[in-house]
Amino acid sequence: MKKKLKWISVGLTALLGFFVVLFILKSGSKPVPPVAAPIVQDTIVPAKLLYDIEIDSFEVIQSTIKKNEFLANILLPYEINYGTIDALAKKSKPIFDVRRIAVGKNYTILVRKDSIRKADYFIYEIDAVDYIVYDLRDSIIIERKKRPIETKIQTASGVINSSLYQTLKESKANPYLAVKLADIFAWSIDFYRIQKGDWFKVIYEEKFVDGKSFGIGEIKAVEFNHFDKSFLAFGYDIKGKVEYYDEEANSLRKAFLKSPLKFSRLSSRFTMRRFHPVQKRWKAHLGTDYAAPRGTPIMATSDGVVIKSSYTRGNGKFVKLSHNSVYETQYLHMSKRNVKVGKQVRQGDIIGYVGSTGLATGPHVCYRFWKNGKQVDHLREDFPSAEPISPDIKEAFILKRDSLQANLDGLVIEQ
Ligand SMILES: [Zn+2]
Repeated sequence: MKKKLKWISVGLTALLGFFVVLFILKSGSKPVPPVAAPIVQDTIVPAKLLYDIEIDSFEVIQSTIKKNEFLANILLPYEINYGTIDALAKKSKPIFDVRRIAVGKNYTILVRKDSIRKADYFIYEIDAVDYIVYDLRDSIIIERKKRPIETKIQTASGVINSSLYQTLKESKANPYLAVKLADIFAWSIDFYRIQKGDWFKVIYEEKFVDGKSFGIGEIKAVEFNHFDKSFLAFGYDIKGKVEYYDEEANSLRKAFLKSPLKFSRLSSRFTMRRFHPVQKRWKAHLGTDYAAPRGTPIMATSDGVVIKSSYTRGNGKFVKLSHNSVYETQYLHMSKRNVKVGKQVRQGDIIGYVGSTGLATGPHVCYRFWKNGKQVDHLREDFPSAEPISPDIKEAFILKRDSLQANLDGLVIEQ
């Protein structure tokens, strides 16, 4: 009997010891993250919530704003009077101006299931994410809310048969990626000239709202093979802004010179309205004037090709450059042009000399800038940095590049 007790006590001590060791081990190691329960789609009970509102007691009316439809047309039939609509519009102003309710937008009315059929809620969707809830039950309560956005890392790859857009569409990737890729490689690949057999691999973020794609997020990495040459782009966040670099940490961007003249005086800015000194009338000035002595060299503000080198009565002698599929620049009132159409120029090359040909009061260059075919004020453009990665963060960049490169290498190209 004694022996048996002894064995029980030994057994208990051992067991206790085991738990103590287990406890020490557990508390000594890092906390184990809880394992997420697998989401099983078909076991989800149908939600009785809509916009976080219990909808059991409501008739749900969902529609889109039609032409000439305003709050009054929508809400009057549901026992909401003009006074309430007016109060709602006033109260809503700091949150959402109801005059901005637009044709084609979705709205929902929650109508009480009784004989009166009064609207208790009006919900207006500003876009796929933002919506406004008007609680009309008592005093009006207005809330601006957001649907949760889920970001997923996606990959796409393909061999180009017709256009990049078409190839992306066929590979079931978001075709809007084509625009993003064209932008990243604007200075290295002419996307109007991509050819059959070019291929690409891309790692990117896609945003989802309610399981539906809501758009492309950040592009993480791209390999684009054009005429059998691979162009690589790795996204790297610098002070909250993602810039793209090649495998050697060089920026994929090419900067513009701030001005086409080395030394100059800004004499007239880009404006939609100015008094024209020669024509003596108010008109838009879609360029920036830099005054300098006649004969001062005018430089190409970035690499490009000459697409115009001619004369008109207004422009005088002028040169126009195309830099890539996005940017074009033009230089007016030259005394002499220095380049012919078709010539490739490098940033800083002299393309002409300051003069006052055409409609000009004195020697200056009128510098004009196009972005995607639209004239813009280059002084207000936020050009991406063209600097290579700075030495202090190069090591971190290399680490990120290597992991992204490994991911790219792992992608199988869909034929
Ligand atoms: Zn001008």
